[in-house]
Amino acid sequence: MRDNTLIVSEKFYSLQGEGQTMGYPAIFLRLAGCNILCKSEHWICDTIEVWRKGKATDFQKVFTRNEINKLREGVHLVITGGEPLLHQKKLSEYLSWFVTRYKFLPTIEIETNGTIIPEVSLSKFVEYWNCSPKLANSGVPEKNRINTLAISKINSFEKSIFKFVVKDPSDMRHAIHDYGAEISSTKIMFMPAGETKEKLDLIRKNIIEKCILFGFRYCDRLHILTWNQKTGV
Ligand code: SF4
Repeated sequence: MRDNTLIVSEKFYSLQGEGQTMGYPAIFLRLAGCNILCKSEHWICDTIEVWRKGKATDFQKVFTRNEINKLREGVHLVITGGEPLLHQKKLSEYLSWFVTRYKFLPTIEIETNGTIIPEVSLSKFVEYWNCSPKLANSGVPEKNRINTLAISKINSFEKSIFKFVVKDPSDMRHAIHDYGAEISSTKIMFMPAGETKEKLDLIRKNIIEKCILFGFRYCDRLHILTWNQKTGV
């Protein structure tokens, strides 16, 4: 029998807190699992405890009627993880099913680490691509964190951005060194590293000043500024 389920870790309604659509109301759908593990002296994945767990959820039960109404009215659907492209085949089946069942396509954003090449079967449904490629500061070996074919493919999508989490100008240089050849410079955004408001406050000014100096986009972290370390908001 056909398996009509998605492995869902978490779902909540909030505002998009980062990147090109920051401030849009959005329903977040977090799928389970990641293909890399960011863990270093500077940084540890802030959603690991959530994406490690997941529950097979029938297509029919992924969203409530109230959530479907919100999506119909224009609230964005942000599909995140972990790494949601681990599920891209099932996700494209789900989105086909969604369009047939509810007779509309919501505005979809995908949040990805840029290590898996998106397939057309999924990308045809997606409007915004929010890619956060990992640097050496993530503790992930280069061979596992850099997939130039995937980065080039995401760069080719009209509404894609690449958001680098950096603690200082040296991280900014590493981002350009590792990924600059594959990414249009106007799509690069730098975002300060830090899982608490206090840590962000310490480095923000330095990152903003370097963005101004070199002409890059800056991006802050609305959720940490507002709720500090709380997740699911
Ligand atoms: S790629 Fe993202 S979800 Fe995966 S471990 Fe790193 S920060 Fe966490």
